[in-house]
Amino acid sequence: MKLFSRDLDSSKVKSHSWKVKPPLVFRWLFPSTIWRIPVNSKRVFITFDDGPIPEVTPWVVDKLRQYGAKATFFCVGDNVQKHPNVFGLLADSDMAVGNHTFYHSKAWSVSLKEYHKSIDMCTSLVNSNLFRPPHGQLFPWMIPALRRKFSKIVMWDILSMDYDASLTADDVFNNVVTRVKPGSVIVFHDSLKAWPRLENALPRILKSLSDQGYTMDVIK
Ligand SMILES: [Zn+2]
Repeated sequence: MKLFSRDLDSSKVKSHSWKVKPPLVFRWLFPSTIWRIPVNSKRVFITFDDGPIPEVTPWVVDKLRQYGAKATFFCVGDNVQKHPNVFGLLADSDMAVGNHTFYHSKAWSVSLKEYHKSIDMCTSLVNSNLFRPPHGQLFPWMIPALRRKFSKIVMWDILSMDYDASLTADDVFNNVVTRVKPGSVIVFHDSLKAWPRLENALPRILKSLSDQGYTMDVIK
């Protein structure tokens, strides 16, 4: 990701905010992946990566319910295997689930064979036509094989940066509410790493989106 880093006027832009919206070059490299979803109403698509875990996921589901919101959870197979009841809660709550590999495998670090094994292990636990590559890492030549396994490879329009310990909950709130538009795909993490910011930011974001007239729907 450093490749796309550039100097920013740090007086105006909080750290890493170039990452919040993916650089256009990524979208050109991966035209068949989903970055934003065309809609004709004020709908947005909230997603949570890296769960499900008992410490965070049920709380997230509870908050979503309070706002009549639905979200798509890109699950790590290892967590699904460890926490089947938490995974079951997602289906029981009409949330959508997607494949995020079994080991949270990074495409730029493991062999293609290992990568697909990790995907298939997750598939044995998570039945979904949706895939999100961990850390957004992909190579363009990987797309055809992935598209044979999944009808949608879901990237994002807005990264909340909730996992970044150098940011505050206010930064995470602003990352989302200042950039959201109809069809946005927004990334959060139901992880312990994100929790210190998520706990404060998520309820405020859900309220703000709801007050702005957005409905929060699952990706199908
Ligand atoms: Zn992830």
